[in-house]
Amino acid sequence: MSPKKDSSHSLLPGWGEGEDEGHPARDYSPHPNPLPVWGEGNSTTLQKTLTTITNNLHDFSDAPELDAQRIILHALEQREPSYLLAHSDIQLTPEQLAETTRMQNLRKTGMPLAYILGESDFYGRTFIVTPDVLIPRSDTELLVKKALEYIRARHPGPRAGIHVDLSGFRVPTSLTSFAGRSKPGMTLTIADIGTGSGCIIITLALELYNLPATTYRLIATDISPAALAIAKQNAAKHGVLDKIAFLQGDMLKPITNRHVDLIVSNPPYLPAEALAKAGCAPETLGLKFEPQSALDGGVDGLDFVRQIQASGIPAIIETIGGEIIECY
Ligand code: GLN
Repeated sequence: MSPKKDSSHSLLPGWGEGEDEGHPARDYSPHPNPLPVWGEGNSTTLQKTLTTITNNLHDFSDAPELDAQRIILHALEQREPSYLLAHSDIQLTPEQLAETTRMQNLRKTGMPLAYILGESDFYGRTFIVTPDVLIPRSDTELLVKKALEYIRARHPGPRAGIHVDLSGFRVPTSLTSFAGRSKPGMTLTIADIGTGSGCIIITLALELYNLPATTYRLIATDISPAALAIAKQNAAKHGVLDKIAFLQGDMLKPITNRHVDLIVSNPPYLPAEALAKAGCAPETLGLKFEPQSALDGGVDGLDFVRQIQASGIPAIIETIGGEIIECY
């Protein structure tokens, strides 16, 4: 069998048996399920592949072109989007094409791209993610930002009363002199409850690293040993494994007998009923692939939020709708 010749539909040879069945683009094909033929003359450029994957993902993704770009970059072991433009004419090898097909077909099942690629960006850094952990959300970046503000305001830094933040901006004493501010040299213990991929606590470890004259004790808890293993991999990847204590256990149990100054947490907060409906709408289909224990917040979604609030420990918590609540 020869590959499809009609390039106007820019279908790649070799999307595999039956994989595109039902997709509108296939209606034009004289061969509904062409088998791959990787012989001479079957060349496929990066640009063609990009167009094909974009078309094929059209009904399965909110951002088909972006997904296609990231799939191709991943298959080519490249990171910079500019690579795609600069190398639009290169031929993909059969192996690279097969890899893009595999990823495209996973995406068509509704699997979030982060799981397909095995990584997700958070606060400007890349984190390893697997279906054992929640995919970091951009709302959670605001939680980190608020936590940093809280911590920096309470740590006076090298000169009492003046805090020098990473940008060198001096915050006058009046802004930092409020109850709860720690003394220079004091240790501040911060616990991330339900750390998942570890994105929150690892980002704090990295962002706080440059703050002088302060000592932090960082703790991460999770009930799932598999999630903790990923969090540790991420900590090692970012060079902060020795700066964080990873404790396995349910919610606050691992910190029961420890002094903690601040809790940061993005606990499961989806109302159970809403979670049960995930998959009915395309925009919530991805939730089906994430650990349900990382999403299910009980009947009203607030079971875990309440547990943290009941501890009486100052806390910055993400809650329903991605809202950040601060309890001091
Ligand atoms: N702390 C992780 C995150 O925000 C995991 C949260 C969770 O599992 N609910 O991504």
